[in-house]
Amino acid sequence: MSMPFQWPADYAPAIQPPIEPPERSLWFVFRGSELLVTAAPAVELPHCNHPKSLGMMPQRIQYLGVLGEQHCFSAEAAAGVAAPKGWVWQGLRALFGALDDAQFALAGRALQIVDWDRAHQYCGACGAATVARKSERSRECPGCGLAVYPRLAPAVMGLVRRERELLLARSPRFPEGMYSALAGFVEPGETLEQCLEREVYEEVGIRVCRVRYFASQPWPFPHSLMIAFFADYCSGEIRVDGTEIEDARWFDVRNFENLPRLPARISIARRLIDAAKGEMLAS
Ligand SMILES: [Zn+2]
Repeated sequence: MSMPFQWPADYAPAIQPPIEPPERSLWFVFRGSELLVTAAPAVELPHCNHPKSLGMMPQRIQYLGVLGEQHCFSAEAAAGVAAPKGWVWQGLRALFGALDDAQFALAGRALQIVDWDRAHQYCGACGAATVARKSERSRECPGCGLAVYPRLAPAVMGLVRRERELLLARSPRFPEGMYSALAGFVEPGETLEQCLEREVYEEVGIRVCRVRYFASQPWPFPHSLMIAFFADYCSGEIRVDGTEIEDARWFDVRNFENLPRLPARISIARRLIDAAKGEMLAS
């Protein structure tokens, strides 16, 4: 299966729904971070005029644009609302591979928009009720003019290479035995390259050079944009920080048996590691 990094060419984002309400649309209805889908084995999204037709009364609705031929909306159900008969609330991560790639990617976007809309009904500066702008995805305070946009937190991931070895590390939060590339959030005023160099040095005491862009992935848990790079080892010995990182090692990619458990295929970390392995084994 392809990974959800590239938007399908047939998705056109938009903010204003058509004036004439579409007869049937694709609905991404969230209760917290759970999405309303039909029960397994056939996992499907509501395809209807309005969630009302399923007996649901959403608190807020957002228009997402057109996917293929279908208008798409996100909607927020109240906390604790039961799913209609034949439907279930499902955590988004668990739906990777169950929904098609385009729908999964759009569900990630929808979740972030629903969360943002809920959290910014009132101005964070003066407390007045905000209003949605028509021209772009933002909300504006009529009292003081503050504009709020969907929140994005850029994070940098770096996979460090030294000849035939990869530097992989584990955080205490990881599942047992799993190692991955290093990552951290970008600080104000920092370039992506500076962030990568700082994170690697802070977490494992290694200096890197030759930072090269690999790919990026939106990560809606809750609102990251992960930007992944390769980097070459420059100097230093591994010295883990002991809090963010509990262990870090050089793994020889030729020795498959000694490679640790890697992140799931949904993640850009896995794609980054697989790409490096492939390149190093081929060279
Ligand atoms: Zn205000």
